Amino acid sequence: DLYNTVQDLKGNIRVYCRIRPSLNGKSNNVIDFIGEDGSLVISDPLKTQKDGRKVFQFNRVFGPTASQADVFEETQPLIRSVMDGYNVCIFAYGQTGSGKTHTMSGPSTGSSRDVGINYLALNDLFQISTQRKEILKYDIYVQMVEIYNEQVRDLLSEEAATKYPFPSEIRSCNESGLNLPDATLRPVKSTTDVLSLMKHGEVNRAVSSTALNNRSSRSHSILTVHVYGKDKSGSTIRSCLHLVDLAGSERVDKSEVIGERLREAQYINKSLACLGDVITALAQKNSHIPFRNSKLTLLLQDSLGGHAKTLMFAHVSPEEDSFGETISTLKFAQRAS
Ligand code: ADP
Ligand code: MG
Repeated sequence: DLYNTVQDLKGNIRVYCRIRPSLNGKSNNVIDFIGEDGSLVISDPLKTQKDGRKVFQFNRVFGPTASQADVFEETQPLIRSVMDGYNVCIFAYGQTGSGKTHTMSGPSTGSSRDVGINYLALNDLFQISTQRKEILKYDIYVQMVEIYNEQVRDLLSEEAATKYPFPSEIRSCNESGLNLPDATLRPVKSTTDVLSLMKHGEVNRAVSSTALNNRSSRSHSILTVHVYGKDKSGSTIRSCLHLVDLAGSERVDKSEVIGERLREAQYINKSLACLGDVITALAQKNSHIPFRNSKLTLLLQDSLGGHAKTLMFAHVSPEEDSFGETISTLKFAQRAS
C-alpha cells in the first residue's frame, strides 16, 4: 500500500486548466464548453477573428465553480508520491490576475478558509508521516526562494527583510540533495510551522516589492519541500516537492514599457519560454533537454524528467478582454501536454 499511490498516474507530465470565476459581476464569458474528459471550447465574444472558436485538450479542466478541495483531490496522488521517493514539480502558469496565487496559496484576502495546494500538500505529507511512523521516520524541511530578473533570492532568511537582496547560488546537488545550499533550510513538524514560514517568506517578498513597485507578479516564487525518510533497516529515501507560483505570463507591449519594466518583461518571457521548451522536450522524450537556458529550469533540473512527475496548472481569466492572453496560455499549456 506504500507504493500503489503512484501507479494510477499515467504520464510523467500532466496539464490541468483552471478557469477563475468572473470578478466584479462581469458576466462576459469566453467559455463555451468544459468536457469531463478534459476538453475545453472557448470562443471570442467580440468575434475579432473569423473563426473565434477554439478547442483544447488537457488532462482535466476545472471550471469557475471548482473548489480548492476539488483541485487538491486531483493533485493528491502526485503529492503523496513524494513520500515514496519521487520528485514532483507543480507549476501555476497564467496571466496576472488569473488565479495562480489563489490555487497555490489561497485567497488574496489571506483568509484561512480556501487555503491552497501549498498548505494542503504539507498537511497531507505530515499525515502520511504519522501514519507510517512504525515503518519509516521522516524529516521534512522547506526552502522558499524567488527568481527575479534571473537572480535567486532567499525568502526565509532572517536578515532578508533588512538585507534585501539576498542572492543565492544554484549548484549541482550536494550530498544532502540541495542545489541551493545557501538558501535557508527550515525543519517543519506541523502545518503551523509551515504557515508561519510562508508568512515570513511573503513578508520578505513584500518588502522587496514595495521598493520595486509590486513585483510579486514579475518574479517566480518557489516553495520547496525536502523529504528525508529512513526505515528500520537503515535504507533511506530522499525527494522533493517544488510548488511554483510563476511570474505573470502576459505579454507587455514593447512600445509602452521602457527601462526596468522592459528588462523584467524580457527576463520573464525568456524564462517562461525556456520552461515551455523543457516541458515540451520532456513530453516528446527528446534526448537533449535544455535545462541550462534559465535559472528556473536549472534549479528544478533534478525534479523534471527521469522519474520525476510534473503538473502544470494553466490558469485563465474568463473575461472577454482577456481572450488574447487566454488563447496564448492555453496554447502554451497544450504544447506541454
Ligand atoms: P494571480 O496570482 O494569477 O495574479 P490571484 O490568485 O491573485 O491571481 O487572483 C486574482 C484575484 O482573483 C484574487 O483576488 C483572488 O482571490 C481571486 N480568485 C482567483 N481565483 C479564484 C477562485 N478560483 N475563486 C475565487 N476567487 C478567485
Ligand atoms: Mg499571484
